Amino acid sequence: IYKLTGKRVWVAGHRGMVGSAIVRRLETEGCEVLTVGRDRVDLRDQAAVRNWMAAEKPDAVFLAAARVGGILANDTYPADFIYDNLIIEANIIEASFREAVEKLLFLGSSCIYPKLAPQPMTEEALLTGPLEPTNEWYAIAKIAGIKLCQAYRKQHGADFISAMPTNLYGPGDNFDLEKSHVIPALLRKAHEAARSRAASLTVWGTGSPRREFLHVDDAADAMVSLMKNYSGASHVNVGYGEDVTILELTELVSDIVGFQGEVVTDPSKPDGTPRKLMDVSKLFDTGWRPRYTLREGLEQTYGWFCENIETAR
Ligand code: GDP
Repeated sequence: IYKLTGKRVWVAGHRGMVGSAIVRRLETEGCEVLTVGRDRVDLRDQAAVRNWMAAEKPDAVFLAAARVGGILANDTYPADFIYDNLIIEANIIEASFREAVEKLLFLGSSCIYPKLAPQPMTEEALLTGPLEPTNEWYAIAKIAGIKLCQAYRKQHGADFISAMPTNLYGPGDNFDLEKSHVIPALLRKAHEAARSRAASLTVWGTGSPRREFLHVDDAADAMVSLMKNYSGASHVNVGYGEDVTILELTELVSDIVGFQGEVVTDPSKPDGTPRKLMDVSKLFDTGWRPRYTLREGLEQTYGWFCENIETAR
């Protein structure tokens, strides 16, 4: 058991959806949360990261900083996705080792698994087949992050662990239609369609891919739990345990938002991987469970979106 009480805990990426949820979650842990803005430290700058860590000396690190985006953004900016993510995680993991950080949790993503991995995907499916081409840039960087943690554990005995969350959603998500993931996109589209009394709402792809979704506050709770209770070389899946089709998700969103028109698919847009459901036995065996059902989580997120519609990205 690793105690966070009284520790200096750096949340790298605290402005992001996951990082900010971790900061909220840490409020009850009795630790000192450290954050640093992009204006002060560019995490892609090795010297800046080293200097900041040498000055601040965190005991524990949540590595939630990353360049993230939906299926279209990944496909459009492959160089940004692979380079920024590789350099950010390499800089922070190396500096954490130098500064003798006691515990580090690296945050990955379910897209590290092969496109056609058997479902639900166990941790062992890593590197058993080709990746989904639309996000392989991001996936390769995240796989490298897992391997960095394993390598520092193996060579130096560093207690660096990795958690691979499924598709996350919640307050602070990116609601920009070109860059966002499917949940914020559908919430915004359904909201605008309902308000303008539009006859239809367009869903990208065929609507038949299956996805698993976890509310970001549940993900943050699972990550804090792993930080305290897990210490091992293998990464750990963080998921909800069930999936839905994109059309089922669209119906749920339409119902919550009050959109009653027709749902139209746009097969000219990519579907991505056909199914993405994690095997969460490893995490659930520790006794952890999510608190939000998908409906509750969507309602809560829609509430946040309505309150923050002016400032939401
Ligand atoms: P993925 O899980 O990496 O594929 O990322 P996304 O959340 O971007 O997409 C999930 C699925 O939702 C894909 O099959 C998309 O084609 C589908 N989808 C349907 N409508 C939208 C939309 O408006 N935006 C996004 N990003 N995806 C959508």
